[in-house]
Amino acid sequence: MDKKVLILTTGGTIAMKLDPELGVIPAVSGEDLVDSVPGLRDVCPVEVREFSNVPSPHMTPRLMFELGGIIEEALRHDDVLGAVVTHGTDTLEETAYLLDLLHAGDKPVCVTGAMRSGTDVSYDGTVNLLDAVRVAAAPEARGKGVLVVLNDEIHAAREVTKTHSASVKTFESPFWGPLGYVDADRIVFRREPLGRQSLRPADLVEDVHLVKLASGSDSLLIDFLADRGVRGLIIEAFGRGNVPPTAAPGIRRAIAKGIPVVITTRTHTGRVLDVYGYDGGAKTLKEAGAILGGETSAIKARLKLMLALGLTSEKDALKKIFEEA
Ligand code: ASP
Repeated sequence: MDKKVLILTTGGTIAMKLDPELGVIPAVSGEDLVDSVPGLRDVCPVEVREFSNVPSPHMTPRLMFELGGIIEEALRHDDVLGAVVTHGTDTLEETAYLLDLLHAGDKPVCVTGAMRSGTDVSYDGTVNLLDAVRVAAAPEARGKGVLVVLNDEIHAAREVTKTHSASVKTFESPFWGPLGYVDADRIVFRREPLGRQSLRPADLVEDVHLVKLASGSDSLLIDFLADRGVRGLIIEAFGRGNVPPTAAPGIRRAIAKGIPVVITTRTHTGRVLDVYGYDGGAKTLKEAGAILGGETSAIKARLKLMLALGLTSEKDALKKIFEEA
């Protein structure tokens, strides 16, 4: 019996059409979406399951975690080659990253979407879904974790980000570039996605919050969250992980309350490191007990802390999870 690819549809522009009165809204069922792609069922047998039909700003970490559970369970079956997730592009990199942290084994999981709806000229959902199924079925894609497949490119979940609000060339892996691409006759990979991590708790801790800082930011929002007793805080800092001196006291107070505080950077690539020792510098934050978030972007670090807290609340263990990345 030929092995199959499981297609889980979640919604997004790939499954939307223009309603003249309402604007672009969810309109296409999972089965209809798959049936609209010529040649898709010739690649390999597919099983379609509609997980949801929502715009991706409606996705939540809880839904992403549930989706991950369904995928991991399905991939245990011998007759499943891999999985494809169709998803809105707005939060696609978050779902892809969370799925990658949860993913065990070698079977490919490909996340795809579209920037143009079914009623637009040059709808890109058709080719993206076909490409994603081809990659999920490809032996070359095994062992590479969760892949984001759009616009003929293949990206690693931990590296990719949405860079343009409208262009079909929106998913990029700044600094790293794609892992490979989808060509007419084959799937081409040119490098391995190194540095993947695995975090597979029985449940996630959702009470983790992200504070984005800007020049002159003070401790107001950080104090508010710390006073609420949240379980974790991600700070999006600057450069090597530095914050305004006015935000540093809030970070110290949150740490003193026992809240794990992870420092990330607003630069698109590069690591947070304890280089600067001036007031608000990452060295002073680390000395105060903050965790430096490595290369992980703020939105991805938030999901990582949610999973990590599902495994441990021990400070050194959390530190290791972030600093090894
Ligand atoms: N707003 C849409 C969504 O994320 C964008 C898209 O799918 O391209 O659901």
